[in-house]
Amino acid sequence: SLNITEFDTIAAISTPPGEGAIGIVRLSGDDAVAIVDRLYQAGSKRLADVASHTINYGHIYNPKTNEMIDEVMVSVMRAPKTFTREDVVEINCHGGVVSVNRLLQAILQNGARMAEPGEFTKRAFLNGRIDLSQAEAVMDLIRAKTDRAMDVALRQLDGDLSNLIRNIRQIILNTLAEVEVNIDYPEYDDVEEVTTKLLKEKTKEVKGHVEQLLHTAKQGKILREGLETAIIGRPNVGKSSLLNRLIREEKAIVTDIAGTTRDTIEEYVNVNGVPLKLVDTAGIRETEDVVERIGVERSRKALQEADLILLLLNQSEELSPEDIALLEASQQMNRIILLNKSDLEARVTPADLANWSEPEKVISTSMLEQVGLDLLEKQISEMFFAGETGEQDATYISNVRHIALLNDTVAALEEVLSGIEADMPVDLVQIDFTHAWELLGEITGDTVQDELLTQLFSQFCLGK
Ligand code: GDP
Ligand code: ZN
Repeated sequence: SLNITEFDTIAAISTPPGEGAIGIVRLSGDDAVAIVDRLYQAGSKRLADVASHTINYGHIYNPKTNEMIDEVMVSVMRAPKTFTREDVVEINCHGGVVSVNRLLQAILQNGARMAEPGEFTKRAFLNGRIDLSQAEAVMDLIRAKTDRAMDVALRQLDGDLSNLIRNIRQIILNTLAEVEVNIDYPEYDDVEEVTTKLLKEKTKEVKGHVEQLLHTAKQGKILREGLETAIIGRPNVGKSSLLNRLIREEKAIVTDIAGTTRDTIEEYVNVNGVPLKLVDTAGIRETEDVVERIGVERSRKALQEADLILLLLNQSEELSPEDIALLEASQQMNRIILLNKSDLEARVTPADLANWSEPEKVISTSMLEQVGLDLLEKQISEMFFAGETGEQDATYISNVRHIALLNDTVAALEEVLSGIEADMPVDLVQIDFTHAWELLGEITGDTVQDELLTQLFSQFCLGK
């Protein structure tokens, strides 16, 4: 059923909900041009006659009431060089909820069907325009919170991951073929031994590649979801100042996203390409300090959920019992200690913290004079990317489904290896090797079930 190539014509609003300078309604399908032609007026010009991949000025009227809906620019893109490989029409109209909705209504009344979430992308997949990992990249792009995450998704959209997976699958396939030949046409007496040796080598090779991919998963997750970061310290050490510095330097906050509860605000800051998701910044911003408000005991709990702790100390004052409590509470975690207010006379030096931390994770800063922030950024990159964030070519696995499949693949490959160890017959061992090949195929959608597809594409935003 994956080879269906005939579809009805679908339509949806492609721009995000709410006010905007322009709104876009998109159609895809055989009747896309004809449907819009029923509404479109520009002298005697008909969209049916215009060249493909052109933008056309005109007006949209409701053919029933003859009422003008909007002044528009209509892009006509004929199959197959379109996102869905079908005829695609995009209508740019004036932004604003009413105009876009009236336009969509008119289109639906004239023969198009409202698209389901993700249906445009699903068609691109079903029509062979993109593979599954690329379809998922589209979804990631929509959700990307930082440039960096967007780069990763774009690379995946380019097919980087798909190519890697296909290469690995090819190794498995070649090996299986060779094993088959060895068994069918035994040239040597020790064919069993030779075949087993080959299988073992190739299984190890493939396992190495898959594990390498999994290695990037942690980084991928960080790039995608942000590094959950807690800024802690007793009152007046400079937490709000740090936050404001990070934000003001336009390490680009990407968004202010209302969190799951109404009183938490998630704020993203981009530090050297690593998105930090700052936890509980609402509390810090209101200068009602986290520690003051919730106490060391409870902040201990908040700390457990963070990937990274930035602990601020005021280096112009002796360490207080509260400082010590916070040092203890965060001792087992990924922590960077900031000795802030380095512009003032020092009472605490990095040497005083030798028992608490590795020296590179203690950084003298001055929020007042903007000292030390570059070191902080460098240290964060070091800790989570071994300094590699500049590497633009890496393919990061960031998708949960992909990670699960890669883990299953490793398990299948381990079965192969233990089967060989246990002297199991080659044809039994082959089954697990073939299973690994199938699992990898599910990443690219080369072996994939309908149900999974429906579920996957339903996660998309409407209009994509
Ligand atoms: P918070 O209570 O931990 O959020 O601390 P704030 O960021 O609100 O800062 C408390 C006070 O310390 C403010 O008056 C800041 O201007 C000041 N402050 C913050 N960082 C520095 C610094 O590096 N040097 C100096 N001299 N003052 C600072
Ligand atoms: Zn504060």
